[in-house]
Amino acid sequence: MSYNCYNCGKTYGQDELILECSCGGYLKAPERTLRKKDIISGDPTLWRYRKALPIGENETVVSLGEGLTPLVKTNLGGLFFKADSLMPTGSFKDRGAALVINHLKKLGIKKVINDSSGNAAAAYAAYCAAAGLECHIFTPASTSAGKLVQIQMYGATITKVTGARDQVTIAAKEEAKKQEGEAMYAGHNIHPLFPEGCKTAAYEIWEQLGWEVPDNVVVPFGGGSAMLGMYKGFRELLSVGEIPRMPRIFVIQANSCNPLYSLFIGKEELAQCVPSLAEGIAIAQPIKKVEAVAAVRQTGGSVEVVSEAEIVEALGKAAKAGFYVEPTTAATIAGALRLQRTGVIDANEKTVVLLTGNGLKATDKIGQAMGFMNASQ
Ligand SMILES: *Cc1c(COP(=O)(O)O)cnc(C)c1O
Ligand SMILES: [Zn+2]
Repeated sequence: MSYNCYNCGKTYGQDELILECSCGGYLKAPERTLRKKDIISGDPTLWRYRKALPIGENETVVSLGEGLTPLVKTNLGGLFFKADSLMPTGSFKDRGAALVINHLKKLGIKKVINDSSGNAAAAYAAYCAAAGLECHIFTPASTSAGKLVQIQMYGATITKVTGARDQVTIAAKEEAKKQEGEAMYAGHNIHPLFPEGCKTAAYEIWEQLGWEVPDNVVVPFGGGSAMLGMYKGFRELLSVGEIPRMPRIFVIQANSCNPLYSLFIGKEELAQCVPSLAEGIAIAQPIKKVEAVAAVRQTGGSVEVVSEAEIVEALGKAAKAGFYVEPTTAATIAGALRLQRTGVIDANEKTVVLLTGNGLKATDKIGQAMGFMNASQ
């Protein structure tokens, strides 16, 4: 098993303790395939797709029961919600964390370092706890209190970093350098196994729609694991003829932090990244943005932005349809509703929205946004 540099194509062994190519590019796991008959139907977790995951087939894994989240047809514009908000730690990040942490444990790593706005941190902390590894998390100072408590409950160490999101990454990498040999920086936005876990959401959607491909998939974009994982999962089904075509993939950002959108419309100079309610997607310089824009175009989808007001409105609408989600996820829902309103997607089409995070994660921010609590509470 090997990885290739996205930038220069250089090959690395899967067990090498590196995250970046010598040229500075990030690494990718090659495409695999999945057929209906490969699915281990008795396993109600994402490990049912083991055949397509780059973890040895007989390796034991630490699992918290991740995957196979509900796919629900809602009364909100007929959208299907893929409820990864019901994952073990409350976000889709468990898909990626399950792969990364199991792999690092197998390699004998004792301590894992990550930087995260909260959900990836909670996921890493939970899987490290279950696997008996130490975990050190670097997080922006503005992260929701609910997420910080959750991370600490799993026993991880937290270092809060003020400044832009990208500063948090730098601090995490510096710490790992200081502890070389013992600890490993395994940033979820760069680790090649993270999107491998995320791709299982595509397999599940296909399986849960009765082996059909949806017309459209709507996903948020922060670092791009959810989106590129989704793209890869469907590609792997397409390449062996399990689905006849790709879904159109629509990517949603908050207008407050819109680097992918700016690149997509050819106006990178207009990119901005100011604080947003959608804290999970506030990444100013996503390293995979070029790959992501190419993938979106290839499917016939697009990149859209939503305002802070639309996010708040979508929080309310989702809850009235029975779904309590965090603001970052509400941004995705707002984007899907906008695409319907503008006629880009039709209400009769099968459109799946990935619900990335649970509302219980961000009670403080939701309460303030909706006016149920004031900021000092
Ligand atoms: C991390 C996260 C995202 C962004 O996902 P990427 O894979 O980084 O693009 C979206 N929503 C929530 C709730 C998240 O935690
Ligand atoms: Zn390279």
